[in-house]
Amino acid sequence: MMRAQPKASHFVDGAYLDDTNGAAFDCVYPATGEVIAQLHEATPAVIEAAVMSATRAQKDWAGWRPVERGRVLRRAADIIMSRNRELSELETLDTGKPLQETLYVDATSGAEALEFFGGIAPTINGEMIPLGSDFAYTKRVPLGVCVGIGAWNYPTQIACWKGAPALACGNAMIFKPSETTPLCALKVAEIMIEAGAPSGLYNVVQGMGGVGAALVTHPGVAKVSLTGSVPTGRKVYAAAAEGLRNVTMELGGKSPLIIFDDADLEDAVSGAMLGNFYSTGQVCSNGTRVFVQKAIKTQFLARLVERTKAIKLGDPMDEATQMGPMASEAQRRKVQAYISVGKTEGAQCLIGGDTPEMDGFYINPTVFCDVTDDMVIAREEIFGPVMAVLEFENEEEVVTRANATEFGLSAGVFTSDLTRAHRVVDQLDAGTCWINTYNLAPVEVPFGGSKMSGVGRENSRAAIEHYTEIKSVYVAMGAVDSPY
Ligand code: NDP
Repeated sequence: MMRAQPKASHFVDGAYLDDTNGAAFDCVYPATGEVIAQLHEATPAVIEAAVMSATRAQKDWAGWRPVERGRVLRRAADIIMSRNRELSELETLDTGKPLQETLYVDATSGAEALEFFGGIAPTINGEMIPLGSDFAYTKRVPLGVCVGIGAWNYPTQIACWKGAPALACGNAMIFKPSETTPLCALKVAEIMIEAGAPSGLYNVVQGMGGVGAALVTHPGVAKVSLTGSVPTGRKVYAAAAEGLRNVTMELGGKSPLIIFDDADLEDAVSGAMLGNFYSTGQVCSNGTRVFVQKAIKTQFLARLVERTKAIKLGDPMDEATQMGPMASEAQRRKVQAYISVGKTEGAQCLIGGDTPEMDGFYINPTVFCDVTDDMVIAREEIFGPVMAVLEFENEEEVVTRANATEFGLSAGVFTSDLTRAHRVVDQLDAGTCWINTYNLAPVEVPFGGSKMSGVGRENSRAAIEHYTEIKSVYVAMGAVDSPY
């Protein structure tokens, strides 16, 4: 039996910490259903210790020279890369995602965020504003103690995407992983200390939504960044608003992927598969409404089914495996329920729709065609390997239908007509768009959603806006001109 028991449940003030008074919960390996670790939820005492140590560390850290802060982050990036295999294996144990993915996108993407924000830390400056003989200047000041709350699909990446910009700007971070995937963020916290960060600067506390809620409303917390579902986002945003705290909300989607009849067919099929089956479909930006133009629908579906049939499900620790299980039994049940609804609604299940004969929370990659806009499977976020293919006739129609959703996270267009590609993307209500590819999210590019899919942006220089505020200083160079 596999074990991945961490030294303790939490990482606070530079060291592992436990409090067995907190409710115990299991960490389950999704590929076998085995319990691989047991942890405890943070008690109020652990939360207090985390906030106190973060407050202390932040005051110290904000006074460091930016180039020194950046160096710590870049060192952390190097350590992560040098331990990529070990961290990728842990990510696989935490989530069930295959090593074929985790070796390339999880620790790696976390390290790139640390490298990027470490690099730009010394460039986070204000401006000088001439005012005749007087002048003013602005400073970008840190917010203070930031809270990060993560989902279970990318535990290492989310811990770094939130931590790196927060720390680069001079803040401290308290991160609460999803209770489904509690292991990876502890390693990030450990590595921060190894890289030279002061104790308390990056804390990890475990627990369910209640621990998240306690952090969000804690008077010592200045900012909250959440990755999760829209209903949770609503709750967290409302709770943060009570204390007028800053927020970043990275929420769900039901993103459109539009494939015109002049698209390269193999590329379009690749895009649709990557945008629905990668990470067993558990990606917020997935293009789960695949609109295919009428003239190529038959060929598109034929190639899609042929290539979907060839996907290799199996042991995530085998590097040849292309698709692992769902992250939890609860998520598998939720996805199965959506598949049943799709069948009842009259969508045609072309492939999949069932579960393979394997231990663990597996589900076969599933393609529905003859899906119509009003069906539940075309409206709600399923968060599993379930693709809905819809047919369209012309550009104007597809743009209207693509935008007819409360979500606005991402969108994609496949076409060989570049003028059309830009024209269509311009009209799509989405924070992140792709032309002739799908789901690439490099750290250099802002990432986030519009409409119900989010508030604020992660990655790139844009993230700096969400982890600092501007202080203006007016400097008088002469006598005070007063009528009194
Ligand atoms: P949630 O959005 O419910 O949870 C996200 C994080 O927020 C978790 O760490 C959760 O803790 C925490 N949380 C929950 N309630 C509160 C609260 N009131 N205050 C503060 N923090 C809170 O996602 P789930 O993991 O429960 O998944 C539910 C569904 O959300 C999935 O089936 C999927 O459809 C969707 N989802 C979408 C994601 C996306 O990126 N678009 C990511 C993950 C899920 P904990 O879970 O430990 O209780």
